[in-house]
Amino acid sequence: MPFAARLNNVETSAIRELFKLLGKPGIISFAGGFPDSAMFDVAGIQEAANLALKEEPGGALQYGATEGYEPLRMQLAAFMHTKGVKDLQPNDLIVTTGSQQALDLLGKTLIDPGDKVIVEAPTFLATIQCFRLYGADLVTAPIDANGVQVDKLEALIKQHKPKFVYLIPTFGNPSGATLSKERRLKVLELAARYKTLVVEDDPYGDLYFGEPPPPSLLALSSDVPGSREWIAHCGSMSKVLSPGLRVGWMIAPPELLAKATMCKQFSDAHTSTFAQATAAQYLKAGRMPDTLARVRKVYAERAQAMGDALEKELGDAIEFTRPNGGLFFWAQLTGAGGKVKDAGELAKRAIEKGVAFVPGAPFYAREPDRATLRLSFATVGVDRMVEGVQRIGKSI
Ligand code: PMP
Repeated sequence: MPFAARLNNVETSAIRELFKLLGKPGIISFAGGFPDSAMFDVAGIQEAANLALKEEPGGALQYGATEGYEPLRMQLAAFMHTKGVKDLQPNDLIVTTGSQQALDLLGKTLIDPGDKVIVEAPTFLATIQCFRLYGADLVTAPIDANGVQVDKLEALIKQHKPKFVYLIPTFGNPSGATLSKERRLKVLELAARYKTLVVEDDPYGDLYFGEPPPPSLLALSSDVPGSREWIAHCGSMSKVLSPGLRVGWMIAPPELLAKATMCKQFSDAHTSTFAQATAAQYLKAGRMPDTLARVRKVYAERAQAMGDALEKELGDAIEFTRPNGGLFFWAQLTGAGGKVKDAGELAKRAIEKGVAFVPGAPFYAREPDRATLRLSFATVGVDRMVEGVQRIGKSI
């Protein structure tokens, strides 16, 4: 086939290869990046779907507006108000087919081949692939437990004059890290000062275990003059309600939103009206606060169990910071006492022992740290958690 040259920029991920092995019977998987299907609010979604069909079958089953189903846009604007985004109108957002599509639309509307885009090291793998498909030359900004290091970010912005900066400021995938409030304000100042778009990808912000995280960059942008017009924010129902619904949204300056909408027209015309009407009914029924409280509690227990088990079973062979929310532990192998330091090697050995996790290297757009790994605690109950970590302990 005479494939497009842009495909030369990407390859199928090493992680996909690993996933093929996950079908092995008895395997305990910390590899996935998804929520636990056992926690889906099936009854609530069923009721919402029934109401959608009963009250507005035309809207729920017909073609719809590319920008999104109006009742859902209204509900999402109200949802964002509860998260501190004060002055948001339904017209300020579009509904996307998962937040993944929002990232694709940003790539499509903004990236010319060779353009610099700054991402965190490490960052979400599908974003790396998506931006590369459009020819982006990715530049990486280092992070620590408090998210992206803003002084380094500023230097990179000055040096590379990027098309935009892409951040996952809250409970990052894969890092689990959360950008401190102080750094958030600094990022907003940088956006305004250098007139550089900052994309805030926020699928995990609602999944906190104790205290809520600092407000989103979008919410804080009203405190930093001139920054709001340089922020695009991507949200998603996937991690809190259901990824199968494929309902996400993007809030961006009007000019960018208009171009993204135009590109979405040629792409999927609109996000499933049935899914949108169901999500709208779900939010309207006021179920979200209870659902969030329930999933937060379960994930908090699992995260605690994983942290305890890693400390107990792996000791000084591993280093990590406990996340305050989200779905992931991000860890570094230390190689202490001659133990294995290459996470790819450990992943292979671990699969043999019946446990899977993802090596961290593919999450780096440049210069991978091969001692890193990502462990998701989301889909493994507390009882199996210890067993899974023990199996890693036997592989190391
Ligand atoms: N961004 C990040 C950081 C993610 O981890 C994910 C899902 N793994 C997405 C975006 C895409 O999610 P969705 O398209 O289901 O909203």
